[in-house]
Amino acid sequence: MRDTAPVDQTDRPRPSVGSLVERLTAVPGREGRLTHLEVLPARDAVKAPWPDWVHPDVRAALTRRGISEPWLHQVEAASAAHRGEHVIVATGTASGKSLAFQLPALTATLRGRGSKGQRGATTLYVSPTKALAQDQLAGLLDLRLDVRVTTHDGDSSLEQRDWAREHGEYVLTNPDMLHHSLLPGHARWAQFFGALEYVVIDECHHYRGVFGAHVSAIMRRLRRVAALYGASPTFVLASATVAEPALAAERLTGLPTLAVTDDASPHGQVVLGLWEPPFTSFTGENGAPVRRAASSEVADLLADLVLEDVRTLAFIRSRRGAEAVALTASELLAEIDPALRGQVAAYRGGYLPEERRAIEEALRRGDLTGLAATNALELGIDISGLDAVLLAGFPGTRAAMWQQLGRAGRGSQDALGILVARDDPLDTYLVTHPDALLGQPVEASVFDPSNRHVLDPHLCAAAAEHPLDEADLDLFGPTARAGVDALTAAGLLRRRPRGWFWTDRRRASDLADIRSSGGAPVQLIEGSTGRVIGTVDASSSHGTAHAGAVYVHMGETWLVESLDLDEHVAVIERAEPNYSTSAREVTEIRIVGEREHALWGDSRLTYGEVDVAHQVVSFLKRRVPSGEVIAEEHLDLPQRTLRTSSVWWTVPAHALEAAGLAAADLPGSAHAAEHCSIGLLPLFATCDRWDIGGVSTALHPDTGQLTVFVYDGHPGGAGFSERGFRAAREWLTATRETISACQCSEGCPSCIQSPKCGNQNNPLDKSGAVALLDLLLGG
Ligand SMILES: [Zn+2]
Ligand SMILES: [Zn+2]
Repeated sequence: MRDTAPVDQTDRPRPSVGSLVERLTAVPGREGRLTHLEVLPARDAVKAPWPDWVHPDVRAALTRRGISEPWLHQVEAASAAHRGEHVIVATGTASGKSLAFQLPALTATLRGRGSKGQRGATTLYVSPTKALAQDQLAGLLDLRLDVRVTTHDGDSSLEQRDWAREHGEYVLTNPDMLHHSLLPGHARWAQFFGALEYVVIDECHHYRGVFGAHVSAIMRRLRRVAALYGASPTFVLASATVAEPALAAERLTGLPTLAVTDDASPHGQVVLGLWEPPFTSFTGENGAPVRRAASSEVADLLADLVLEDVRTLAFIRSRRGAEAVALTASELLAEIDPALRGQVAAYRGGYLPEERRAIEEALRRGDLTGLAATNALELGIDISGLDAVLLAGFPGTRAAMWQQLGRAGRGSQDALGILVARDDPLDTYLVTHPDALLGQPVEASVFDPSNRHVLDPHLCAAAAEHPLDEADLDLFGPTARAGVDALTAAGLLRRRPRGWFWTDRRRASDLADIRSSGGAPVQLIEGSTGRVIGTVDASSSHGTAHAGAVYVHMGETWLVESLDLDEHVAVIERAEPNYSTSAREVTEIRIVGEREHALWGDSRLTYGEVDVAHQVVSFLKRRVPSGEVIAEEHLDLPQRTLRTSSVWWTVPAHALEAAGLAAADLPGSAHAAEHCSIGLLPLFATCDRWDIGGVSTALHPDTGQLTVFVYDGHPGGAGFSERGFRAAREWLTATRETISACQCSEGCPSCIQSPKCGNQNNPLDKSGAVALLDLLLGG
């Protein structure tokens, strides 16, 4: 629904993308940096006639907006929803997913109107952010249909809330408001819930990890409340392309769901280059070779493209990084012609609307040719139709990557995108294995709806909404009974003949903090003003908000002055240090129980529960942008224990011996395999490298064998290690590939060194890790 104004291209001759890539790669010294060039051909649209059931007013409104005929995937998804089938539409960026739910929902409202104009069928639209809901609102109002549309979020006034409750037919909200307001106050929304025909869950790939588990519990509460008033709404979900969309939808709603995945929208040709920076002359930890920083490489490419008059947008992770890239590119250009200096600028979050408009205008006029931006760009600047996009590192998911690349190209115009790898295993694997990036998606939106740390508070909230009965336990899944029993024993719920009741005086919904993953979150407070800047999960605060940490929040850089674990407060100040930090931790692990296992010959792969004791012991300071380690400082933080889920694999001693793996090499081999596998799991489980941890040992007391664990860093687990178990063969094969293909000789940050290793990346054995993984995968 977000329409972006294209950059005016009319009177500029443009170099062909092919010749442009040739010139970029022909620069002396750049041999071998372009690892792959993919040409994604232009695709024509596949249209379909308007379905008969669409209300004529809806069709007329959309036609007025320039949609003469919908695309095939829109019709397929919309018609399924109209029939009452739950459906997920998982197609690319800008493929008009909104139409899939707007057609049936708006039609149902208009057809459901009473003869005196009483409220028709209602729709609840749920988005992960307020900004997206505002976008949807603007698009719906622009249709000028006689449908009562409104938002219901933290910014809504009392009058708006009353109006939404009394008259709203299409209400746009978010999971937080559902959890804290709509569901606990359902009695006042009885008429709205009673007429509820559609629930839309937009951008549903946001609901992953612990947050995903919370939202899945909220969706079950919503289904239950709707049923109280006789409604059984159809769920329509929308998501960017991910693996197993139907499964993700089912986990979120608990309902069987049809997936529509064939994208019938058109796009121009895209030429995507994958780029690997070279090794530098300085060395890293243990003498390892270190690659040039992605942002330094992007600064060079940005300057080259601007010199060719190619309008280019570069995405950089931090604001400081974006500013450094813009400055470096300007200086490179000024060496050629001082007049070119002003052709490049930095863009960050927090600009006023008029400042943004000025940047957009300058790009359109050609006063500005290159822009280095953080992803805060997604929050409001209005540009598309550029010639090229540069990415300093993989942005975490393919959906995010295509969103950023989508800023280039328009209609039949060719677009250039270059993904420059950071010096880590995931990026290195992607630029050397284009199939993993461009073939069938392997990344799944994962979470664990049965995590009791998450589910139990929602059982309390559900009981407060309406007493729980036996049938409800099925709705909330296999761990609900144990949860209800434990809550009853703890005196939070009370068992009566008609079910389980919430009798506590507190608001039950306050027990679950859906944006945090267990324990009270740590508040980040600006020391000089007392302002709350944000929060971090208790579980990750030791690693990211310890005293001395450089913390990047929405592209802004902060320095943590102190962390008070009793008060759950970290005091931070804005700062521009010339380094970044990464915490190191040591870990011990104990097996609690198994859930599933698989035998691979003599080796065994297990998914189960573990107790992890870990301690953040120090942090490294690395120079920006080079990444060179300049200091290590020790920290005095307490050990913490965590019960969570884990995947682990074991290889018995006789198999190791038979394969000729020397006992002395085993600790380094297992350690290296562990590091690299942690680096690659995000490719399969859409998590962050910091959401998971690992332990490796040549002999673990619980298994009596060489064992490598990779565990979820959140209490009760977040589903990441389970996904590792399910995709183990692809995941560990990719791990082996990454290690063996890396051009270093003894190991480096691109393969087996980890920035969070508590053992100074020692011992690590690169060739031993390959032999060990060969043995495991051969079984
Ligand atoms: Zn390496
Ligand atoms: Zn380590």
